[in-house]
Amino acid sequence: MKQELTESPVPGGIYLCQVSEDVSCAACCGLYNAADCSPTGLQKMLADRSERFARLSRNAESIVDFGRQVKSSQLQNRPWDDFHHCPFIGLIGENRQRVGCLLHPLAAGNMGVDYRGLSHYGGMACRQYFCPSYRDLTADIKTVIQHLAANWYEYGLMVTEAVLLGSMVSEIEKRLGAPVHLRDVLDSPAGPRVLREVMFLKIDWPYRQGDGKGLCHYFFTDRRYVREPVDYAAAGRHPVGFETIFAELTSGFRTSDELHCAERRLEILFRQAADAVRCRSL
Ligand code: SF4
Ligand code: SF4
Repeated sequence: MKQELTESPVPGGIYLCQVSEDVSCAACCGLYNAADCSPTGLQKMLADRSERFARLSRNAESIVDFGRQVKSSQLQNRPWDDFHHCPFIGLIGENRQRVGCLLHPLAAGNMGVDYRGLSHYGGMACRQYFCPSYRDLTADIKTVIQHLAANWYEYGLMVTEAVLLGSMVSEIEKRLGAPVHLRDVLDSPAGPRVLREVMFLKIDWPYRQGDGKGLCHYFFTDRRYVREPVDYAAAGRHPVGFETIFAELTSGFRTSDELHCAERRLEILFRQAADAVRCRSL
């Protein structure tokens, strides 16, 4: 929602919304609640609307009309009707390489004028909202995910997954028998690769249920759309551990073999991560 770090402190002390030239987030603006939320689908949609917005006269009537047009042309068939996808999310920065707010005073063409008051949430909410990850993620996880994210698409999908990321770090700590400082393994040979596999696991998770809602995350505290517990009836048993992680990954298992493979994949991953930490400590 926000494009720059103001002088006032942010909750948790680390600014999450804008990170670098190509890493940023607009998940709370509804970015991923789109009929096609694949990387290419979102990139195409945002590039198109950013291009159109660049040619728009900056006045209230044109901007409101632009929002209406985007809604009718791009925002049909969203997975969640009541999760607003703001039509003013666009691509920003010198080469339009990251997501951000087209109405922000620093966005191209706005000449310092803040147009966010014309949005669904209103200017105050857009300026002041901080998602639960600001409070719930540790500084260690925030730093590592910002370091490892390759682009806005994967960063915004994962930085809002506080429960999932916290649970995965706990699993690494269980295997280590000690608290983990992920930052310490970023400069070890295997550390970054293993940590990337852990932290961005959700994106290519093969056991995600196929209703199109698993990638997008409704993390607001009103809990309008909650993640349901996994139904293990088809697998014939509950997993040994990992129940929270499987639920946060919106998993579904058609057979006991599938559940076994998923458990094994997580076990190997967390052991590799624990080994990377141990090697760094030697
Ligand atoms: S107007 Fe508000 S909700 Fe829309 S993109 Fe900008 S910050 Fe997000
Ligand atoms: S979801 Fe959180 S990190 Fe992402 S833009 Fe909103 S407040 Fe910032």
